[in-house]
Amino acid sequence: MPRSRISSRLLAALLAAASASTAAAPAAAPDISREQAQIRKIVAEISPKRIEAYVRKLVGFGTRHTMSDTGSETRGIGAARRWIKAELERCGAGTPLQVAFDSHVAPVSPRISRPTEIVNVVATLPGAQDAAKDRYYVVSGHYDSRATDVMDATSEAPGANDDASGTAAVMELACVMAKYKFDASLVFMAVAAEEQGLIGARHWAVQAREKNLNVAGMFTNDIIGSSRADDGKIDNKQVRLFAQSIPATKEMSEAVRQLVATGGENDSISRQLARHTKEQGERYVKGFKVSVIQRHDRYLRGGDHMPFLEQGYAALRFTEPNEDFAHQHQDLRTENGKVYGDLIEFVDFDYIARVARVNGAALASLALAPAAPREVRLRTDKLTNDSTLVWQPNPEPDVAGYRIVWRDTTAANWQGAKWVGNVTEATVDLSKDNVFFGVQAVDRDGNVGVATYPSPQR
Ligand SMILES: [Zn+2]
Repeated sequence: MPRSRISSRLLAALLAAASASTAAAPAAAPDISREQAQIRKIVAEISPKRIEAYVRKLVGFGTRHTMSDTGSETRGIGAARRWIKAELERCGAGTPLQVAFDSHVAPVSPRISRPTEIVNVVATLPGAQDAAKDRYYVVSGHYDSRATDVMDATSEAPGANDDASGTAAVMELACVMAKYKFDASLVFMAVAAEEQGLIGARHWAVQAREKNLNVAGMFTNDIIGSSRADDGKIDNKQVRLFAQSIPATKEMSEAVRQLVATGGENDSISRQLARHTKEQGERYVKGFKVSVIQRHDRYLRGGDHMPFLEQGYAALRFTEPNEDFAHQHQDLRTENGKVYGDLIEFVDFDYIARVARVNGAALASLALAPAAPREVRLRTDKLTNDSTLVWQPNPEPDVAGYRIVWRDTTAANWQGAKWVGNVTEATVDLSKDNVFFGVQAVDRDGNVGVATYPSPQR
């Protein structure tokens, strides 16, 4: 009897050693340093010439005020939206791009003087992977414009920068990207009534939440048309990316409370999306900086990312580095030799193309990569000087495994990474007290997804 007990104990020890050695040798890491050919092609195809043609056409509608004429074929917001839809249908022909109006009637409100039909033009590129096609990334620009008086629906309001620039970028992205295949779905939106209170974007975002749509990220491009500051300086080497931390609500949600309780206020889903966007944007658009601004928007201003933030989605805003307020929301006029108005002569088409390329690189990498891992937890049941993370396996069939990333608690971007293989638990020899961790999923082609911040697990 004693002999058999010893041998069974030995056997158990041998088995444990064998399983430990398999666990210690994770599957080979995909090459994540290699640029993706598809993303390089998309970035290269984005054309300043086509963007210029879109901006010229949009400016040519005279005004695109939300309450402007809708009957004319040449002037007003109705003609503008019919042209945007027709153009997207034309360039998307022969691709799976689905173009539709998303319309509703907005009641009277402070910036809407009579019930008004608000129409978004929405082009959807369905994802090609079953496990990822219900994950959506949305990119928008607003095609409505305004003069000095936000209720003035008849004066000239070219809105060349605000926001024909963003609308043109979104149209170009839709036309270029529709020819390629992605795992997740992409939604390209030209929205209306931004200037009247973010009405078009809010309508879509509220519907998305009601349908429980998995919008894993949203970008708005608003005022991305000029590289020239009001003092005449040119800065065409960067774009600002506004990223919210946690919402400024009176009551904290449980999710927000958990973030704040562990010092994770810089690890909100929008900040994780911003990290990914900066990394991929700067990787594929050489010499161009994505300057993340750690606030939801500029003072006194808002944008179409805000309704998405209100619905709990990760959402970011792209805007040029130095705005010239003489060329936004202004009646066309000259005062003391100074020209006012949002005119096409102040727009830099090469600059818009660069910002569009950053969008394209980020959207393509997001839609090719696996989702951010779910239910990521950091084990805190014992006092230890290493850190063990656990998570749920990703649903995508092409997931090769996971990476744990980390950074100092005062650092903005990831500083370290460890490939851990296709597992759902791993330990890093770093103290959880001193760094912030994230877990990313990686597919077999080397596409890396957005990181998830762990919540503590006792
Ligand atoms: Zn705007």
